[in-house]
Amino acid sequence: MVSERKQCSKDVCVVGAGPSGLVAARELRKEGHNVVVFEQNHDVGGQWLYEPNVEGENALGKCTTLKVHSSVYASLRLTSPREIMGFTDFPFVAKKGRDTRRFPGHSELLLYLKDFCGRFELREMIRFNTRVEYAGMLDYAVFGNDLRWVVKSKEKKSEKVVEEVYDAVVVAIGMDTWRRKQMHSHIYRVPEPFRNEVVVVVGNSLSGQDISMELVDVAKEIYLSSKSLDVSEGLSKVISKHDNLHLCPQVESLQEDGRVLFVDGSWVTADTIIYCTGYSYSFPFLDTKGIVAVDDDRVGPLYEHTFPPLLAPSLSFVGIPRKLIGFPFFESQAKWIAQLLSGKRALPSRDAMMQSIKEFYYSRDVAGIPKHNTHDLANFEYCDEYGDHVGFPHLEEWRKELCLSALKNADANLETYRDSYDDLEALQVAHQSPHFTQLGTQAFPM
Ligand SMILES: Cc1cc2nc3c(=O)[nH]c(=O)nc-3n(C[C@H](O)[C@H](O)[C@H](O)COP(=O)(O)OP(=O)(O)OC[C@H]3O[C@@H](n4cnc5c(N)ncnc54)[C@H](O)[C@@H]3O)c2cc1C
Repeated sequence: MVSERKQCSKDVCVVGAGPSGLVAARELRKEGHNVVVFEQNHDVGGQWLYEPNVEGENALGKCTTLKVHSSVYASLRLTSPREIMGFTDFPFVAKKGRDTRRFPGHSELLLYLKDFCGRFELREMIRFNTRVEYAGMLDYAVFGNDLRWVVKSKEKKSEKVVEEVYDAVVVAIGMDTWRRKQMHSHIYRVPEPFRNEVVVVVGNSLSGQDISMELVDVAKEIYLSSKSLDVSEGLSKVISKHDNLHLCPQVESLQEDGRVLFVDGSWVTADTIIYCTGYSYSFPFLDTKGIVAVDDDRVGPLYEHTFPPLLAPSLSFVGIPRKLIGFPFFESQAKWIAQLLSGKRALPSRDAMMQSIKEFYYSRDVAGIPKHNTHDLANFEYCDEYGDHVGFPHLEEWRKELCLSALKNADANLETYRDSYDDLEALQVAHQSPHFTQLGTQAFPM
């Protein structure tokens, strides 16, 4: 819906300088808004800013877990091929002297994000080491376009709290908290501390599988506990190859003597339990007087996973949807937000947005999808329909093809899919497409 209203520029606070915050800042500025990005960390990158130190000492000299944002472990490599990840106008190309693999290690993605910042001069908008402690409505009674926000932020060193007023807040903080029990994969970094241990890895997720495969060389025994024993061909192959890796059912209970009981009555005595049970949404600084809430990992109500009908477009969220090709989707969200704030476009009525949310929830219920998977979309058509709200290009066929072939390959060949693939035809099409040729000779795709 394109509106006739006069365009205007707003003072916008973006929380977070990860991939979604960075692209949000770029799109907002392009649309003429004044943007300040708050980032609690010392650099850009979000999850991709690897933090090796996860333990510290408290005042009593006791070892404690530090509060770190990144869940990335040392050996982590991308699960999606680099070609599909790039923002539309900034392909993620291999560069000489860097990690040129198609599924590079995490630090290569950080370098890509740093290049993105450099190319679009984003750093000047970012206040580093500055955490947003509070964002709440200035005048609770005023909704919609006239809504303004009080933002209180604290700089790490000075501990000084600064209070400012913004026209809009864009929350771009990804999945902030982990379901913490024993030890969560969030604080797993390297396999060495588990040498000769019996380890139970709970959760057959991508990180659960990655960590188990890494532990086979150091741990005595690894028990990978999975909700379903009906696992992919790739995982079955890995399990049959390693004598010390076992698949077992869900954990029933933990005993004080160190035994871990499984639901089928079997048990093992474990030295360590690593929970790879996923991450949760959490916005501790955000005060919406209950208008937006997180309930069993459903952030809502959010129209198109982005806008709370009562507070939009003044409040918006980038980066909530999961299981889709992330970066271009974040970019389309950012464009829509920017154009709504400038008045170039308008949202449907609040009632219509609420109705759309209700229908979405209903369709998920009917499909038997649990509430905590509300934002797991896994749907290319959805990305295209979403983009249509703001005239954003549809996903290229090669992007979809490369994404699907990587998923299929991972399913069948878990240990090797990142280094051995048979999608070279689609890859060639990708490299010859305008997405890759737009940079001219600056960089070379592999
Ligand atoms: C282990 C792991 C592996 C992954 N692998 C892949 C992959 O292979 N491919 C893929 O596409 N995606 C992958 N992802 C998904 C990944 O989360 C996204 O790629 C992306 O990082 C999400 O970007 P974001 O900006 O929304 O959030 P984040 O990257 O989490 O960034 C959020 C930023 O907000 C900051 N912040 C939070 N709260 C505040 C506050 N109050 N004040 C100021 N700053 C704040 C944080 O410090 C952080 O910098 C992976 C995720 C994990 C955890």
